[in-house]
This record gives sequence, C-alpha cells and structure tokens, in this order.
Amino acid sequence: MADALVLIVGRLSGPKNQVLLELLRSVAPVVAQKVPGARFQVLGGPVTEEHRKLEKQFTWVQFEGHQKNLRPFYLRATVVVGAGRVALEAMALKKPVVAIGERLYVGPLSPDKVGAAKATNFGDCSEKEDFDWDRMAGDLVELLKSPKKRAQAAKAGFNLAQSDYNLEKVAAQTEGLYQKVLLEKNLSRFHEIPVLMYHRVVEKAPADSKYNVYVVREKLEEQFQFLKSRGFEAVTFGDLLARRAPAKPVLLTFDDGYEDNYLHLLPLLKKYRMRAVVYLLGDRKHRNNFWDIPQGEPAAALLKEKQIREMSESGLVEFGAHSMNHVKLTELKPAQIRREVEGSKKALEKFLGKPVLSFAYPYGLLNNEIKEITAQAGYPFGVAVKGPFTRFGKDLMEIRRVHMFPGTSLFDFWKKTSGFYHRYRKWTGKFDAA
Ligand SMILES: [Zn+2]
Repeated sequence: MADALVLIVGRLSGPKNQVLLELLRSVAPVVAQKVPGARFQVLGGPVTEEHRKLEKQFTWVQFEGHQKNLRPFYLRATVVVGAGRVALEAMALKKPVVAIGERLYVGPLSPDKVGAAKATNFGDCSEKEDFDWDRMAGDLVELLKSPKKRAQAAKAGFNLAQSDYNLEKVAAQTEGLYQKVLLEKNLSRFHEIPVLMYHRVVEKAPADSKYNVYVVREKLEEQFQFLKSRGFEAVTFGDLLARRAPAKPVLLTFDDGYEDNYLHLLPLLKKYRMRAVVYLLGDRKHRNNFWDIPQGEPAAALLKEKQIREMSESGLVEFGAHSMNHVKLTELKPAQIRREVEGSKKALEKFLGKPVLSFAYPYGLLNNEIKEITAQAGYPFGVAVKGPFTRFGKDLMEIRRVHMFPGTSLFDFWKKTSGFYHRYRKWTGKFDAA
C-alpha cells in the first residue's frame, strides 16, 4: 500500500546504524501489525549481512542501499524518518518528518517541537537519552493513519525549512534541493516578477485567427520599448537559477515554438538586448500547430531545427519543454503523463545539448499529480497560465503567467506588468478566458 510507506534515510554504520537496527527491531513490527500494508524503506549504506538478515525476518523492511537522487524517494514516502539534512530536505518537500538522531528521539515535527528539533539538529546533538520506542511506534501509527496529523507535521516542517533555518549555510554544504529552497527564498525578495505569455509573433494580424494566439511584431516592439523605459530587464530561468536576477526582472515566454519566433522575435531580441523563453514540443516530427487546426485555427509552421540551433546559440533564447505532443495532461494516465513530461525534457536536452529548466503545461492544464511528476522529472520550474499565487516564488511548479492578447493596449500592458495586477485581478474576481 503506497500510502503507508515509512522512509528512513541515514548512514548504516557507527552509532547511527545501532539506532537504526534498534528502531527497526522495536518499532517496525508494531507499526506493521497496527497499520496493514505498512512498509519501511531504508536508504543508505553500507548494506551488510545483518541488514539482509533483518530484511528476511521482517518482510515489511527493505534496504535500498545508497541512492544518489533522494528526491523521488522522498516524494513517494508517506512519512520520512531522519535527522539533519534528511529532515530538512523532506520538510522542504512538505513531507511529514519524524525526527530522530543519534542521541534523541524528537518525534513528529509540530510547532511545539520545532524548538527542540532545531536545538539538537533533529536529535543528533544532545545528551544521549534512552529511546522511547513505544512512543515512536505510537507516533508513526498515528501519522500513518491520520492524514490530518500528517498535514500538520508537514506544515510545521515546511514553515521551519522556509523561514527560521539558516538556508545559506546549509546550502553551502549540499546541492540540489537546498538550491531550490534557497532559490524560493531568494525570489521571494521580489515583490513580483511578471511572466508574460505569448505565442506567435506576426507581421500582420491573420484575419481568421480563432484563439488570438499572436502578437503583431510592431506591437511587441512597442512593448519592448515600454519595458526598457521602465527599467525592466528580461531574464531567463537559467538566470534565476544562477541567481543572476536584476532589480526589475521580467520573463517573456513564447509557447509552441512557432517559426515566426525566429523570423520576427529573434531580430527584436537582438535589437533591444532582450531575452526570451520559447517552449518547444519534444517530438521534433511535428511541423505545425496540428492541435489547433481542427478547431479552425489557421495552420502555422513550427521552428525548424536549424532555426532552433541558431536561436539557442544567440544566447538570447532559452528553450523549455511543452510536452511531446501538445496534449491535455489532465486527461492522461500517470505513465502517459510521465512520457510527455519526462520525454520532452530528455529529447530536447539531447537535441540542444543544454539543460531544459522549465516546462509549460499545455493549455495551462495541471493538477497536483502533474506538478509532482514534473518536479520529479527534474524541472526546477513549471509555468501555468493562471495560478492561485500572487507571488512569483510561492510555487515554482505553478508559476502563473499573464496572457498577452493581440489587443492588449499599453495601459493594459502596464497593469499586467505591475505587481498590482494579480492582486487586482483577485480583487475584481476576473480571469482570463485562456
Ligand atoms: Zn501550447
């Protein structure tokens, strides 16, 4: 049963190993008996004969050895048991953590335990106490059985990881997850980073466009001039990851990868030293907007490989992924979602020879499962069409964008690029039809 998985991460040698073995022998059988289907997964090494014996004796315990990428394991776990870095990583992923260190059992993180957890580095640094295994078994059973308790523990931990902790210091010691927590913290200093969403860039408005997924080149040029005059600097997700964010960043995104982006957008980027993020389909066999044509949208060519390479080499365009086949992910099964999301990252990285850092959910359709799969696939950022959050750094897997329509006037544009826009929309309760 996937929803009763206890993940334990730690070294399997020295005093840590002694604590772990005792824990498994004393706690695991009680939990397995009281929570049908409960399993204990242990990550870390070295896995010895003694561990294998225990595995044979207790079928609900599994040793997975040392794992390089812990993130998918954290995400699958119901409850995470650990100290120090493990506890922090799991908390950053909003997992309920039961803190236990070499010397002390702290227990499930709740607001009143946060102080003790911090003071002892989750039980690693303290006077040695006798471990109360009965209490730990009771805590685990309670957490595994109660989604409410889990949510409470997850929230307490997440708040701790977000606020109090000295993330700068921690980040210096490790990479990956911390980078992300740090990034979120770093980005939260911006009141607002406008992320604008465009599609086609055309010379002349097509007469028969149904979805109005275009901007006329001249208008886009006006908008670029406007942004420049207001001191905005266009950045890419790579800039944000590298913490190269200017005082007034703006993100210009273009979905679907139309050939007109090469013809009309690239020259403007060069002229104004602006940068953009363009979202491509992973399946390079697609030649046009086949998904919109049956609905009566005029056919529009997609970028050719040579054009993509030139744009990529210009340094002015960062490419992101937009699924393999421009599908509605909310209508797919998890394995299919994974193929679309993971597949497009791999295909584009192979083709571009560069990491693909962001994913644009086709049609802006997403749910928590899709977001989780996207994060698991290794994208640091996911962009949506509209999102529930007003602040950029709030949820990097659901970054809301402002839909730029052909008729967007400079005044509308000003509203849309000002930090007030999203709150204003919230107040008035209006939403884009996109
Ligand atoms: Zn699209």
